[in-house]
Amino acid sequence: MVTAKALVLPELNAPFQLVDVELDSLRPDEVLVELKATSICATDPAVQRGKIPLDFPVVLGHEGAGIVKEIGTAVSGLSVGDHVVLSYNSCGKCRHCQKRNNFRCVEIMKRNFGGKREDGTQTLNWNGKPVSSCFFGQSSFCNPAVVQANSCVKVDSSLDLAVVCSLGCGIQTGAGSVFNVVKPVEGDIRSLGIFGLGAVGCAAVMAAKIISQDKPKVLSQIIAVDTNEGRLKLATDLGATHTINPEKEDVKARLSEITRQEGLDAAVDCSGVLSVINTMIESIGAGGIAVTIGNPGNDSKASVPILPFIAGAKTYSACHQGNADSKSFIPHLASLYLQGRLPIDCLQKLYKAENINEAIADMKSGSVIKPVLLWT
Ligand SMILES: [Zn+2]
Ligand SMILES: [Zn+2]
Repeated sequence: MVTAKALVLPELNAPFQLVDVELDSLRPDEVLVELKATSICATDPAVQRGKIPLDFPVVLGHEGAGIVKEIGTAVSGLSVGDHVVLSYNSCGKCRHCQKRNNFRCVEIMKRNFGGKREDGTQTLNWNGKPVSSCFFGQSSFCNPAVVQANSCVKVDSSLDLAVVCSLGCGIQTGAGSVFNVVKPVEGDIRSLGIFGLGAVGCAAVMAAKIISQDKPKVLSQIIAVDTNEGRLKLATDLGATHTINPEKEDVKARLSEITRQEGLDAAVDCSGVLSVINTMIESIGAGGIAVTIGNPGNDSKASVPILPFIAGAKTYSACHQGNADSKSFIPHLASLYLQGRLPIDCLQKLYKAENINEAIADMKSGSVIKPVLLWT
């Protein structure tokens, strides 16, 4: 039996504890990964405080990166020694997965938030008892980790795993919302509003800048909205052409002024705050698209004014994981990082894995955007 170090959440609202756990044997479709780094995404502390229900104790972690140590008998396309970024899990068999639209997998909730394998067993035990696991198919707050093969994305071994681990969820989601959902085409989309400047929103700003550089006349207005002045300054450095602080300015009035009363051509909400989502929806102009990323709560309902949406042929959309096929999108994002066009390392701060509680406190206070835990 393989033993591992894991950051266990023993119960609701408790701090994480670094403990020894025992790993279950590999199933045919699983991979043993030696983690080098795991970054923290907002969904991890959301489980800790009960916003997302899972049975406790649980091992979370869904932005891992490491090296393949062992592969199950049915795994193809991966070898021992491969470097992998771990992303969301999917069944690989349904009609959406067959078309590489895995983000629409019919088993997406079960495979990522089910807390166990398909056969109902757990990948690890703590004090001889099973612990909720398979979070995003990886539970990468554990080293080494038993990972579902569909969560593994092979990447070039020259990449710094402490940087590219963050591509697994948050960065993929923010960049994908712009590249894959807004999908600006020549001349059609001039203005893009980005609401909320966590890692997801900052990645959306980076993606928007890339598109504005590659496609003339597209996204000439990249408007970042947040209450944190430091993050507005960062957004400007990353490519935002305008910033709005809702604590100092009326957001709708300012957006109307910037867009010359036309409204936004596109917007993405990365805050997950219902009032902000509704402001975004109301700020969309004719032919525009508003995209929801963050979930303000499982019972939340956004308000779409139907007649203006009919009259303006507007779209209100949601997206999941940036509607990205992680197997191709993550290597693409990694190459953009290497080109200096997706500077995600400027969002990161490194911590020893055992200092996870400090890292989460820093993320909550707003002093750090993307904490990265190192397994050294
Ligand atoms: Zn996430
Ligand atoms: Zn599927």
